[in-house]
Amino acid sequence: MGDALCSFNPMYGQGMSVAALEAKLLDTFLREQQSRAMPDRRTGWTMRFQKALASVVQAPWRLATGEDFRYPEAQGNRPFGTRLFNWYMRRVYELMASHPLVTLRGYEVLQLLKPLSALFEPRIVWAVLSKALALRLQKPKPEAVLTTDEKHVRENSIQTPVQSAASL
Ligand SMILES: Cc1cc2nc3c(=O)[nH]c(=O)nc-3n(C[C@H](O)[C@H](O)[C@H](O)COP(=O)(O)OP(=O)(O)OC[C@H]3O[C@@H](n4cnc5c(N)ncnc54)[C@H](O)[C@@H]3O)c2cc1C
Repeated sequence: MGDALCSFNPMYGQGMSVAALEAKLLDTFLREQQSRAMPDRRTGWTMRFQKALASVVQAPWRLATGEDFRYPEAQGNRPFGTRLFNWYMRRVYELMASHPLVTLRGYEVLQLLKPLSALFEPRIVWAVLSKALALRLQKPKPEAVLTTDEKHVRENSIQTPVQSAASL
């Protein structure tokens, strides 16, 4: 459990919350086992616990590594859908400055109070897509001539809520 199971980039400030959720899960599993009249060793308790642990770690890991994978220097294989996920999350972070429901859901997910799937409920998806469409329909502004490096710096210069929370 904790960092022994999965060690997060400290930048995003998730490690202690995840460790606490894992401890809570262990408590639930132990109580369930204790409540059995005859603990049944054939039920694959350890396997079930490990699977449940993986589901606790999955969302924060996806959020943190997704942010890290925005940087070309980040090593490791990008999981399938990383670019689409990052595109979506970028729009969510932008909307968190103006859209009350997206702001609420965004912080609930970042603070691990709700699962990542809460950011994909229809009202949030609709807000993201309509914002993206509105931006696309806007007249393109004359683009300054930027080098690839300058474009990368500009794209990543907006601090996401995950990054700004971690820098507090
Ligand atoms: C710089 C930095 C900043 C961070 N900032 C945040 C943050 O803002 N928010 C957040 O949620 N998380 C943050 N984290 C992550 C968080 O600290 C860890 O996720 C969390 O402490 C993990 O808890 P743990 O009990 O698994 O491990 P640890 O807290 O590392 O505890 C392990 C303990 O085991 C002891 N130990 C090791 N080997 C042995 C041995 N052989 N025998 C006996 N004892 C041993 C160690 O001394 C240590 O006390 C940060 C981490 C770092 C490095």
